[in-house]
Amino acid sequence: MARNGHLVVHGDQAVARHFPERHPLKPGRPDAAIAHLVRAGIVGDGAIPVVAPSRASDADLRRVHAPAYLDVAQRLSLPGRDPRNLLVDPREATAFGFSPDGDNPPYLDMVEVGRHACGGVIDAARHVLGGGGIAFVPAAGANHHAKRARASGFGILNDAAVAIASLRAEGVRVAYVDLDVHHGDGVEEAFAADPSVLTISIHESTRYLFPGPPGGLHDCIGSGPGTGFAVNVPLAPWSDDTEWLGAFETIIPPLLEAFRPDVTVVQCGTDGYHADPLAHLLVGERAYVTAAARLRDLTGGRLVAIGGGGYDVAATARIWAAMFATFVGAKVPDEWTTGEPAQVPDGRTMARVAAENGINVAAVRRLVFPHHGLGLT
Ligand SMILES: [Zn+2]
Repeated sequence: MARNGHLVVHGDQAVARHFPERHPLKPGRPDAAIAHLVRAGIVGDGAIPVVAPSRASDADLRRVHAPAYLDVAQRLSLPGRDPRNLLVDPREATAFGFSPDGDNPPYLDMVEVGRHACGGVIDAARHVLGGGGIAFVPAAGANHHAKRARASGFGILNDAAVAIASLRAEGVRVAYVDLDVHHGDGVEEAFAADPSVLTISIHESTRYLFPGPPGGLHDCIGSGPGTGFAVNVPLAPWSDDTEWLGAFETIIPPLLEAFRPDVTVVQCGTDGYHADPLAHLLVGERAYVTAAARLRDLTGGRLVAIGGGGYDVAATARIWAAMFATFVGAKVPDEWTTGEPAQVPDGRTMARVAAENGINVAAVRRLVFPHHGLGLT
């Protein structure tokens, strides 16, 4: 296929290969997605190129993260026998969210890997803003829980937030759409008071899933001048394609059309997939493709796609490949969207799911739409 200016930003520098093997976040997912795209002739020689990510600077990281946190993360990234590691008191590491057996175990080169994921998203955004076409950074996105001074939910350096902050410093208006099954709390927190950044997270309700309430519920809509510009769409466990796409369609298109961003960052977490081991939604491959097509059309192609969660490794690679193919207007091979169908619960359960979602989605509209000049009829 013709290049049309689209781009994949990826390289070993941005892959957390030294993550402990027992950890659910598997480092091979971006390469596996790209391999699908290469086999289909969508990416590679004569097609869409893969370019290596840049390394984000200290100034880039400090727009989002506290210097004391970056210092501890850097010292924890050194080889285990490096005497400088002794400078990190275990209690200090724990206070910043790191622990050897928890969600955020320190690993070799942790900060270097994170710097390249951040740099990759910044590169991708500049490419898109320059009119270059759509860009995909599959190694970024899973850091969406990382906070200003705390590692969280497998996230160390919040690549999406760092890139958005870099764009904001240049006056760019940014929308962030987080499709991950978990609430995109770290990105939301970084811009909760900023009306020039619209964050929308559609996820399994934090009443049932990490990172837990009170964040991520329907009435969390930003603060101060940013009120109405942080949007959360919490869904009940067992929400299927109909429920997920119904909520997506009710909330996301009107807000993107009203907000008119210069660029939209889409976090493509696939852990809403029905066979994902860490969550309880029942989303299938084709629903992700439908959402990708809508986001491509709604953004006019001014879109940066990043990876995210996804703990069914084979499904994640197929869905990312299918979404990127859709973003760039390529045909999606049937075998990428024909996995095992979801096991759907009984009718009574699904009626309860639909009722809970209906109440929450209506409440989101009622609370958020007036901030964007949108009517409720
Ligand atoms: Zn997730």
